[in-house]
Amino acid sequence: MSEFLYKQKKEEKNKIIQISNNVFIGNQSKKVIIAGPCSIKSKQQLLDTARILKAKGVNIMRAGAFKPRTSPYSFQGLEEEGLNILIEVKKEIGIPVITEITDEKYLEKYIENIDIIQVGSKNMFNYELLKKLGKTNKPILLKRAMSATYKEWLLAAEYIMSFGNENVILCERGIRTFETETRNTLDIQAIPYIKNNSRLPIIVDPSHACGNRYMIKPLALAAIISGADGIMIESELDPEEAVSDKEQTIDIDELSEIINNVEQISNLQV
Ligand code: PEP
Ligand code: MN
Repeated sequence: MSEFLYKQKKEEKNKIIQISNNVFIGNQSKKVIIAGPCSIKSKQQLLDTARILKAKGVNIMRAGAFKPRTSPYSFQGLEEEGLNILIEVKKEIGIPVITEITDEKYLEKYIENIDIIQVGSKNMFNYELLKKLGKTNKPILLKRAMSATYKEWLLAAEYIMSFGNENVILCERGIRTFETETRNTLDIQAIPYIKNNSRLPIIVDPSHACGNRYMIKPLALAAIISGADGIMIESELDPEEAVSDKEQTIDIDELSEIINNVEQISNLQV
């Protein structure tokens, strides 16, 4: 292979990936907003959340069914029950959805009804999973592992692409640094680097980068100004009731403010 598929070739435009009839990622004039709970808790919770997210202008709902947690004693997600809830809610509300699938055994059964498959940061190096995803034609959101270099991250994308699936969206979600006051550190440089060295869309997840509520807005807006194609934020009706990552989950009012601000600054980007 002489030339990597992820690379920007002179004659080529950046990739725009179609998610649904009217949602695209990679179209710089229309930033994509992904939001929702870290974890699916119940059908009612997700239904109420999805309804309001859609009304506030969220383009895609995030909600986790498989939660690869640092501790095996932390909530691991509702797993298949969660996927079924997610698909029911997607159909009732009519909003595209993204969720992580950690095991290929669930792919075949659920892939049809999920709009974007997320590869979590802990699975970025799971090359067997990447190969399986490469054999589908689903949009894949590939999160950067907390210690992955840009090259390792792009080569993980290349794994998916080399098996035939070029619908890869990159997601910067914070890297591990010497700072311990925040969960991770958002690597804002990743945005211009990826834009300069690949043709893939990149979105930013400020929630897992900082791990607290008060930094979400400044980081989200910095990402947009820096050229990110969108943002993914953990948000739910009552953040205090979140079953995972509640410290970084923002309420719908704050999310709504961010959405309005994104709209205002979208054409200011570099
Ligand atoms: C998530 O988005 O829910 C998640 C687990 O993120 P990460 O893989 O980046 O830790
Ligand atoms: Mn989370």
